[in-house]
Amino acid sequence: MSNEKQKTRKRSGDPQQWKKNMRKRNKDEGKEYISPTGKKFPAKVMRSSCSNSCWLKCSENFSREMRDQIFLDYWSAGDAVRQRDFIRRNVINRSSTKHPSSKQSQRQRKVYTFPLPNSRKPVCRTFFLNTLGIGAKLVRYTVEKNEGDFISADQRGKHTPYNKTAVAEANLIRDHIKSFFSCRVSLLPQGEQQEVPPC
Ligand SMILES: [Zn+2]
Repeated sequence: MSNEKQKTRKRSGDPQQWKKNMRKRNKDEGKEYISPTGKKFPAKVMRSSCSNSCWLKCSENFSREMRDQIFLDYWSAGDAVRQRDFIRRNVINRSSTKHPSSKQSQRQRKVYTFPLPNSRKPVCRTFFLNTLGIGAKLVRYTVEKNEGDFISADQRGKHTPYNKTAVAEANLIRDHIKSFFSCRVSLLPQGEQQEVPPC
């Protein structure tokens, strides 16, 4: 029994890495996950619609089924880059404001939209955030930053120089092997494999 257990553990690879991948996958798919510090994050759920008196008539333009589909599409992507891309495509940052210092105008700077089959319609902030089950902070960060900022942030503290060197070296070796191999192949019909010139 203990032998079997040991074998299984060996086959599963690095448990830390496995846990990390699992955590990331659950997080990106909006499922419940536990952070490395032990904090439990509940699964993402769609929250209530905006009020019936909303001037953009969000719930008239987007039925409950359409909301379900948007929520599902967003989370089933299971990929933070694609999710940020969705947010960027559907939240427009309005740059000009009459009163840039007031809180109200800061809120109005963003125009939230959801896609329809052949167009898209503006929705209010509450409807946008609640339908996706996300927070305002995520939208703010995503709209204000470029994808490159996220990539460099993700790679921080992950020994990038080491990885870069390793990848560059691996590519060099691969290219070298490839060139060597193609020389040998091209000379095969003549049967002069031993006299392959350096490529
Ligand atoms: Zn609304």
